[in-house]
Amino acid sequence: MSSIVLFGPPGAGKGTQAERITTSTGLPQVSTGDMLRAAVKQQTPTGIEAKEYMEAGLLVPDSIIIDLIRDRIKLPDAQAGVMFDGFPRTIPQAEALAQITAVSHVIAIEVPDERIVDRICGRYSCGNCGSVYHETFNPVSNSGCECGDFIEKRRADDNKETVKSRLSAYHEQTSPLADWYDNKGIFHRVNGDRDINLISDDILLALKK
Ligand code: AMP
Repeated sequence: MSSIVLFGPPGAGKGTQAERITTSTGLPQVSTGDMLRAAVKQQTPTGIEAKEYMEAGLLVPDSIIIDLIRDRIKLPDAQAGVMFDGFPRTIPQAEALAQITAVSHVIAIEVPDERIVDRICGRYSCGNCGSVYHETFNPVSNSGCECGDFIEKRRADDNKETVKSRLSAYHEQTSPLADWYDNKGIFHRVNGDRDINLISDDILLALKK
């Protein structure tokens, strides 16, 4: 079994690309952010603990995240590999992942900091099916979402104040992972500041290497 990691700052488009790459590769998307948001909504012990970190734009402690992943990776749909979105985000998480499952490609979606605030503050999703949209770059069509039941949903942490903390967390705790994976020869950089289709094409090319 071999898995893929989608890596990059908040708002880089990891979720959007994950949806597309899942269609091409068949690998299920495993987003720790989505799993945590579901836990917060259901008010599980994990959700209750994670909520304050998420609202402050801070990383949730490694032990919580690693436990979530350990459980997720045991499910039947994960046996042929998965596509991680937003995980790992620290060196200890990457070390734990290396013990749990093999990773064949880490795809870094690169977007300059100055573009991140606009990208995050303009995004929304369909509350019915989870498709991700953006006011400027990828608006929902006039006929609504493909799922046929569009309900606009915005994330509580997609605001200017929290974005700054999330970007700092990325630079301080997550970006050192680039060298960590580069040393293993599985790190591929993709320019994420372009048309969504061009980015998907480049990711699919990188996955063939
Ligand atoms: P995301 O949806 O990936 O932007 O994640 C939203 C928030 O969930 C982050 O700002 C963190 O508070 C938390 N989170 C998601 N994934 C992780 C992770 N791998 N490690 C630590 N915190 C995470």
